[in-house]
Amino acid sequence: MSTPSPAADQLLDYVTSCALPTPWAQFTLHAFIEHSTGKEHLAMVLGDIGDGEPVLARVHSECLTGDVLFSQRCDCGAQLEGALRRIAEEGRGVLLYLRQEGRGIGLVNKIRAYRLQEAGADTVEANLQLGFHADARNYELCKPMLEQFGVRSLRLMTNNPRKIDAMTRLGIAVAERVPLLVNRNAFNDSYLNTKQAKLGHMMGPAEPLAAALAEPGTN
Ligand SMILES: [Zn+2]
Repeated sequence: MSTPSPAADQLLDYVTSCALPTPWAQFTLHAFIEHSTGKEHLAMVLGDIGDGEPVLARVHSECLTGDVLFSQRCDCGAQLEGALRRIAEEGRGVLLYLRQEGRGIGLVNKIRAYRLQEAGADTVEANLQLGFHADARNYELCKPMLEQFGVRSLRLMTNNPRKIDAMTRLGIAVAERVPLLVNRNAFNDSYLNTKQAKLGHMMGPAEPLAAALAEPGTN
C-alpha cells in the first residue's frame, strides 16, 4: 500500500486515511485539506502506485447531482463508477476527488445554470450568462496530492484535452489517454455534444496525444 509522507505542502495538508470497501475493490481513502479554502479533497488508491510506472488515474471534480443523486443531465456519475471499475479491474490506480462542484462554480450556481439551460442556453452559455468562465476548474492541487504517493506519470482516464494540458503544465506526465465513454442518454446528449463542440472534449476512441492537444475545440 502506498502511504503518503506526512510532509505538508503549501497548498494542502494530508490528514489521514482508511480502508474503503466498494462494490469493485477495497480502496484506501486518503483525506486532504486545502489551506486557502478549507475544502476537503480525497484520493482513492488501489495497489502499489509509487513504483515509478505510469498509473491509471482519474481526476474527478465533484458533481453532487451526478455522483450522488443519479442525475442524467451529465455523465459524471457514470464516469466516476466507470473509472473505479477500471482501476479495480487492473488492481492498481488512483482517483482524485476534487471538491470543485459544477465545473468550479458551486452547487447552487450549477442549479441556476441548469435553469438557464431549461430556457434554451447550452452548458457553456449558461455559465457565461451567470458571469463565470465556461470551465472554472483548477487542477493545481493534483500535483501535491500525487506527489504524496510518489506518482509522476499517469494513464489518464479523460475525454478532456484541457485536463491533459493542465497535468502537463503542472509537470505531471500523461503517458496515455484512456477514453472514458459512458452513459450517453436522451437527457445528456446535447450537453455532451456541447462539451465536444465548445470545450474540445474527445468523444471517440484514443487518438495520439499530440494530435488531440494540437486543436482542442475543433473536433
Ligand atoms: Zn455532472
